[in-house]
Amino acid sequence: MRLFENKKECFGCGACANICPKNAIFMMPDEQGFLYPKINEELCVNCNLCKMSCQIQNENEVKNDGAVKCYGFKNEDIIRMKSSSGGAYTAISDKILFQGGACYGSVFTDSNDVIFQKARTKCERDLFLGSKYVQSDIRNSYFDIGVELKNQERVLFTGTPCQVAGLKQFLKAKKISMEHLITIDLLCHGVPSPKLWKDYIRFLEKKNRGKVMGYSFRDKEHGWSGYHIKVEYDNGLVECDSREDLIFTSLFSMDLILRPTCYKCPYSCKERCGDITIGDYWGIHQVDQDFADEKGISLIIVNNKKGNQVMKDVLDNPLYTWKEYPYNYVSQPNLTYPTLKNLVTDLFWMQYRKKGFLWIVQKYSGYNNSFINRMERSIVFRIHSWRNKRREK
Ligand SMILES: Cc1cc2nc3c(=O)[nH]c(=O)nc-3n(C[C@H](O)[C@H](O)[C@H](O)COP(=O)(O)OP(=O)(O)OC[C@H]3O[C@@H](n4cnc5c(N)ncnc54)[C@H](O)[C@@H]3O)c2cc1C
Ligand code: SF4
Ligand code: SF4
Repeated sequence: MRLFENKKECFGCGACANICPKNAIFMMPDEQGFLYPKINEELCVNCNLCKMSCQIQNENEVKNDGAVKCYGFKNEDIIRMKSSSGGAYTAISDKILFQGGACYGSVFTDSNDVIFQKARTKCERDLFLGSKYVQSDIRNSYFDIGVELKNQERVLFTGTPCQVAGLKQFLKAKKISMEHLITIDLLCHGVPSPKLWKDYIRFLEKKNRGKVMGYSFRDKEHGWSGYHIKVEYDNGLVECDSREDLIFTSLFSMDLILRPTCYKCPYSCKERCGDITIGDYWGIHQVDQDFADEKGISLIIVNNKKGNQVMKDVLDNPLYTWKEYPYNYVSQPNLTYPTLKNLVTDLFWMQYRKKGFLWIVQKYSGYNNSFINRMERSIVFRIHSWRNKRREK
C-alpha cells in the first residue's frame, strides 16, 4: 500500500491515520520533525479507506468557488490583546460555544508541543488564542469530530487550509454528514518545523536556566504590525524580543523552515476550503481610518452560504466593530500563490543535519553578529526579498 509517490506531496494531515480501522497507520516524524504516515503492512487489510481519505488522491474536492463577502473586524480591546489579529476567532467560537457546540483548535502542551484539542468552555477555548507558528499535530481530532457529528452535535474546526481539507476528505470517506460542521481556515504562510521549534525551546531553557511556561509569537504590548515575541519562564524571568527570542521567527521569515508542501501549496488561492477564512487585515488602515490602530484587525472572508449564515449571527453584536469591503481591498500574497522557497533551504537542512541547531542558528538567524555572518545573511535575505518582489510584479 502506497499513499504517495513523493513524500514531499504529503501535508501530514493525519486523515489516513484517523480513518484506518486496523490502526495500521502511525504518524512518524522525519529528520525535520514533520509527521508522515507509516503503514504497518502486517496489520493492513487493503480496505483502501486511507486512500479515500487522502487529499493528495482527491485533489480539490473540498474547495469552495470563491469569496462571498469580505469584512474588516475588531473585537473588544481586551480580546484583541490576547489574539493575533482582531479577535475574529473568539467572536465566532463564542457563538458556537453559546449554542452548545464543540470547538477544535491548537494549544501548547506543558512541554511546548503544538497539538489539536477540543474545547467546550470559554476557558478551554482561550488556550487556542494566539497563532503558534509551528505545524500542529491533529492527533485523533478527525476521528473524534466524526463521532460528534454522527451524534448531531455542532462542531467548529479551525486550522490551516490543508488541515480543513484533511478533515473534509476524512468525513467524505466515512460518509459522515457535514451539516453540523463549521470550518475556519487560516490564511496560511506555511508551517515551521516542530523539531526545530523544540530545539529552540531547549536552547532558550538552557540559556535562561528555566522552563518556558508561556510563549507568544504575537505579543501586542509594542504593537501589532511588527511581530513581537514574549517568553515567560518558571523562574520568574519574562523576556521580550531579546536576541535569543528572535531566532525562530527570523528563520521563519526567511522561509527556510516550512514543511516542503507549503512551498507548493494548492490552497494558496482564492478558492478556499473553509466556510470562513480569517487572517490579518494588513493595509486596511490606509483605506479606512476607523481601522488605524495597533491592537490588530482581522480579515474575514466568507466563502459559502453556511459561512454567511454563521457570520450574520456573529456580527449581530454591538461590542464588535466591522465593515464590509470589496474583495479587491485584500492584498494577501498567500491568496494568490504559495510562499517562495528560499534558494538555500536544502543547504540549510543539510547543514542542520550535519552540524546541528546552534551552528545553523549562528549562520542564518542573525544571532551571531560576526561580520562574515552578517554579510552572508544579508545577501541571502536580499536575494530572497528580490525574488519575492519580482514575483509580485
Ligand atoms: C502557521 C500559521 C500561518 C499563518 N499565516 C498567515 C498569513 O500568512 N497571513 C495572515 O493574514 N494570517 C496568517 N495566519 C493567521 C493569523 O496569524 C491569525 O491566526 C488569524 O488571523 C486569526 O487571528 P484571530 O485574532 O482571529 O484569532 P487568534 O486567537 O489569534 O487565532 C487563534 C486560532 O488560530 C488557531 N491556531 C493557532 N496556531 C495554530 C497552528 N499552528 N495550526 C493550526 N491552527 C492554529 C487556533 O486554534 C485558533 O483557532 C497564520 C496562522 C498560522 C497558525
Ligand atoms: S491523508 Fe494526509 S497525512 Fe495521510 S498521506 Fe494523505 S496528505 Fe499525507
Ligand atoms: S501553506 Fe498550505 S500546505 Fe502549508 S500548512 Fe498552510 S495550507 Fe498546509
